[in-house]
Formats: sequence, structure tokens, C-alpha cells
Amino acid sequence: MRAIRVYSLALICVGASTLILSACQPALEAPEQAPTPVIAITDVTIVDFDGRRAQLLHGQTVLVEGDRISAVGANLTIPKHATEIIGSEQFLLAGFTEMHGHVPPATSFGPLPERYLDDVLFLYVANGVTTVRGMLGYPHQLQLKQDIASGKRIGPTLYLAGPSFSGNSIESVEQATQRVIDQRDEGWDLLKIHPGLTLAQYQALATTAVSANMDFAGHVPAAVGLANALAAGQRTIDHLDGYLEYVDAMQRPISAAEINQLVELSLAHGVTIVPTQALWQTLIGAGDADMLTAYPELALVPAQVRQGWLDFLDNPRTSYFNADTAMQQHDNRQQLLLALVRAGVPMVFGTDAPQLFSVPGFSIHREIATLQQAGLSIDEIIYSATAAAGDYFAEQDHFGHIRPGARADFMLLPGNPLLDASAIERLEGVMLRGQWLDRGTLDSRLAEIQAAYQDTSDN
Ligand SMILES: [Zn+2]
Repeated sequence: MRAIRVYSLALICVGASTLILSACQPALEAPEQAPTPVIAITDVTIVDFDGRRAQLLHGQTVLVEGDRISAVGANLTIPKHATEIIGSEQFLLAGFTEMHGHVPPATSFGPLPERYLDDVLFLYVANGVTTVRGMLGYPHQLQLKQDIASGKRIGPTLYLAGPSFSGNSIESVEQATQRVIDQRDEGWDLLKIHPGLTLAQYQALATTAVSANMDFAGHVPAAVGLANALAAGQRTIDHLDGYLEYVDAMQRPISAAEINQLVELSLAHGVTIVPTQALWQTLIGAGDADMLTAYPELALVPAQVRQGWLDFLDNPRTSYFNADTAMQQHDNRQQLLLALVRAGVPMVFGTDAPQLFSVPGFSIHREIATLQQAGLSIDEIIYSATAAAGDYFAEQDHFGHIRPGARADFMLLPGNPLLDASAIERLEGVMLRGQWLDRGTLDSRLAEIQAAYQDTSDN
């Protein structure tokens, strides 16, 4: 085998440049493996978190080998064969995690084009979203997760909830229990809770999930209520579902005492929240229709999807929508969110894309703005989308930081995002599990997606 390897190396060298020829010389004496490809980002400022405190590290070099960050430091030796990306006057930030995302089924469904799945995955990546917790599983989606992990498909790393537990899918306590075991055995990462479960079904699910070491997360069914969901150990409560309902503050200003009660209850049970404030603002009817319909990113989803969202504004067919109380409810949600986070209730970042003007990836900028309106600092928001998400998945992998050993998931920004969040929108490139996608590559694929979904009906 050795001789063959040397021979083949020599063969490669014959027609190659002098650079490669010189690299071949020692191989003839002592055969060596070809060096692992290395990407070096040099002279860059790293934005990271020490605990919850944001920190800037100037003049850093970051080495990437395979899908990992292999070294970080100010005085690193850069391997001769490394590909260099000069990061002078630029900032490196860990990729975002979308903690309440959706991934369409692997095969086309309804009138949606087959390509929609890959486009959704790419829209996430193009905005620096390198991890998605998928909150509604479909058959075959676990294969998709594998295909992304193995590099067959481009997309964010997925952690997936199975098909949901809801009033439609569950009819008995026995069925709830069996479905937990089935989803664990199939390899889903968590269980998704939707509305409609009875208290007995929910408690059977929760008890089985705890003993099966499965997370369960999502909504709070009305018959269960916030206190029972927290006591049962629901890992995340998404959309702040069940919170205002618990103190009956859906239609009037929430009081300071009620906010304190909800904060104490949350802290006592160690729950994590995924607020999805921007999406919920739209869903309940507190969104600004002129602003929503002007989002340029609407051009990046299929015409049918876009039209569905526009139709919602005229004819909202959901029980969440209530034009009379929407503004009050949104205001209550914003006050409550700020109080929860400031009291130390863990928050992770999510936007519920793709749905209702929440275009995958682009929706992170809409959510950042809404969280800032609630009074959260940009440090707190970025923390929730990077380091806090990494902590959340600490048992599965290491990501959410720019550190040796972490998954090489990050974005290169033209400015300091802690001073101006728009630097994230203007990213220069994305490192996705060690694969570098520069601005030109991202732009040409985005242009191609836009062209595919151009609405030709009014031309
Ligand atoms: Zn959702």
C-alpha cells in the first residue's frame, strides 16, 4: 500500500506546479498523509461571551479544520497550506440558532415546488443561521438531518422535534405514552407539544418523556395550563404561550404583581422561553400591515406562500387573532418578556420561520428589532441566539462560541454587532461546519431563488 501511495503522489506531481512538486519531495522518503485542509481567518475581532458578558477579542486568528474550530489566538502559527481569509477591521460572531424553526417536508406537498426545501435551508444559512431546532417533524426528516450532517445537502445543523402531539394526533393516554417511546426509538431529538391535549394525556406524555430522557417543548395546551406544564418539566415554552392566559391578562394591562407571579413561577421550574415576539405580534393582529407587506425578503418565498400570508391580513383564520385586544396583548407580552429575562429566566432565540412574514433567516432581523423594542439590549439578544443556544444543546455538541473544539459555524461581519445590529444583516460570509460561503456565493444563490419565485401572474 505504501508504495502505491508514493507512486500515486509522484504521478500527481508530474504535471503539477513547482509548489506541489516541492511538497512531494519528503513523501518519497517517508510517506505522509496529505495535510488536512485548513482555513485561517486572520487579524479579526471575535465577538463572544464570557458567561453572559459580551467580550471583544482583537487581532485574533481562527483556524478551521474539517467541521471544527481547531485553534484561536493572537499569535498562532498559520500552516503553509492554509487558505487565508483576512479579517482586518471585521468581526467574527458565532452562527445564530433558530430555536423555533420549521423545515418543510422533504418531498413537495400541495402546490409548493420541490425546490422549496433546499431554498428554505439556504435562506437560513445565508443569514448566518447555522443551527435550527425544527419544531414540527415530518416522515423522512431524520434522513434530511443526516444528509445535512454528512454534507450531501447544504443547510443548518438540525435538531428535530417529531410529528406533534396535539388534540388531532392524540386520542388517548395510552396513545400519548406509546408515541413518546416510538419517537425516542425513531431518533427524534424532542417532542413537540401543540394545543388540544387533555391534562391526562399531557401528564402521561410528560411522565414517559422524563423517564425516556426526552425533551418536550412548544405550546401550553389550554386544558393543561402554565403551572402544570412547568411542574411537569416542559423544557421550553414557546411564544410565551399560556403566560398571559394564566393571569387572565389577555384583554387588559398586566399588573406588576402578575408579572412578578409569572417570573417567580418560571424561575422555580427552570423553564427556558422562546418568545417569537415578532411572529406573534403579526399572528394576534398587532403587526403593521404596511411594514409587513413591504419586506423585501417576501420575494424569496414561492408566490403561493407569499399570497397566503397576504391573505391572512385580510382574512385571519386563527383563534389567536383579535383585532380589539391585539395591541394590549402585544404590550403585555413585551413587558413580561423584559421582566422574565431581567430576572434571569433563560431565553433562547426563535422566530417561527417560515410562517406569516417570517422568512427563514431574514426573520432574525425582524425579531432582533422587536426584542430591542421590548427593552432588551443587543448583547442579551445575541447571547440568546448564540451562547445560550449552545448551552441548551451542550449534551449534543459544542457550538455557539468561537472556541477551539466548537463546530465551525460563524459569520464574518463588516462592523461590531454590539454597536449596530445591522452588521449581522450585512454579513460578508458564513462558515457552515467548516465550509466557507462568501458574500458573492450567497448573493448569486439568493438571486437565483428570487428569480425562481418571481410572481409572473401580474406581468
Ligand atoms: Zn411554529
